[in-house]
Amino acid sequence: MLKQTAAAYPHLVRRYQVGQSTCFGYPIWALKISDHPEIDEDEPAILIDGMYHAREPLGNEICLAFIDYLLSNYGVEEKVTSLVNNYEIWIIPILNPEGYKYLVDNNLSSPWWRKNLRDNNNNGLIDPDYDGVDLNRNYDFNWTRLGSTTPASWTYQGPAPFTEKETQAKRDLTLNEKFVASVSYHSYGEVILYQWSWPDSGLRAPDDDVTWTIAMQTARRIPRLRREGIYSFQRQTAASQSGPWMYGVAGVLEFLVETGTSFIPLGPEIQEIVTDNLQGLFYLFDRLKGPGVRGKILDWKTKQPLEAVVSIIEKDDFRYIYPRRSHPQTGTFIRLLEPGEYTIKVSAPGYQSNWRKIQIKDKMEDVTLYLLSLEGVQPRFFNPETWRKSGQKR
Ligand SMILES: [Zn+2]
Repeated sequence: MLKQTAAAYPHLVRRYQVGQSTCFGYPIWALKISDHPEIDEDEPAILIDGMYHAREPLGNEICLAFIDYLLSNYGVEEKVTSLVNNYEIWIIPILNPEGYKYLVDNNLSSPWWRKNLRDNNNNGLIDPDYDGVDLNRNYDFNWTRLGSTTPASWTYQGPAPFTEKETQAKRDLTLNEKFVASVSYHSYGEVILYQWSWPDSGLRAPDDDVTWTIAMQTARRIPRLRREGIYSFQRQTAASQSGPWMYGVAGVLEFLVETGTSFIPLGPEIQEIVTDNLQGLFYLFDRLKGPGVRGKILDWKTKQPLEAVVSIIEKDDFRYIYPRRSHPQTGTFIRLLEPGEYTIKVSAPGYQSNWRKIQIKDKMEDVTLYLLSLEGVQPRFFNPETWRKSGQKR
């Protein structure tokens, strides 16, 4: 299906194998949709994925519906054309292909399969009562705080962080593409999870104002089944799941959407859930246009792009999040912010740090920041002789 799509829209789509499943080596496919999909353009990138968990196929349905919507309305609907032209949209419909295949093949014996198929007891067989890792507990972030250490558990975290090839695939793609935001579709509960609530302390994420607003605005746009109100939203615990790692380590604002009211809904409900969830996704794309700051970091002398640590000093607390960096090839960074006054600090090894005050209103502010290389700069030591002389002059 993804292969045909890529072949049918070669000017808009590329299909990439971004990894493989842990036990059987099934390919994990991603589609990249953009106006020049064959090259890495300096455009904001976003990731949408589904099916961490085998029994949650709505994620796949939403991804496929979104792909179809984008491609069939490109050049027709102005909104879609501009999304495709201005973003790099990455979509992984099925992150857990071997778990999904197992579910489909063994519908009667294990209808609620969730994990991948890691052979936990190394006996060469699939033991549904013992094997498999919960891919959404395998991330290297507050590792001890959430997943189960019992292999038989549905939420078994795996032998160590990032042992699973599926989570490695998403990690590596993320570090490469530097997504601004991501949405991970699960089932069920009609709730949006955003980053985060720190374990024990309940401390909120440095970007809580932004993530809260996005979660709230997204939830408002997604009606519950049978139109009984709207989706709810809540903070996700900052532990070994995808979202906290994406945000804490990679600086990506990830939202987990628990779609629907059951793992595998009835036929007519699927269409409704999918269509409603696309509305939430369109809002997120809109929000990527601002408010916030989009910048470029350049070497003052050579005008070459630089990878630098870019922090908002009023917000960032590096006890909880990793430093955010500009793109090594383009020097670009994007930071979504709520309106207000902020100070950007930029630093890179071998350069003098630079600061800039910015005023964020209702759109994306563009800034270019130059860093002055320390190479060849003579350190100015305190010279008591000069000091004494200058003192005498007064
Ligand atoms: Zn799930």
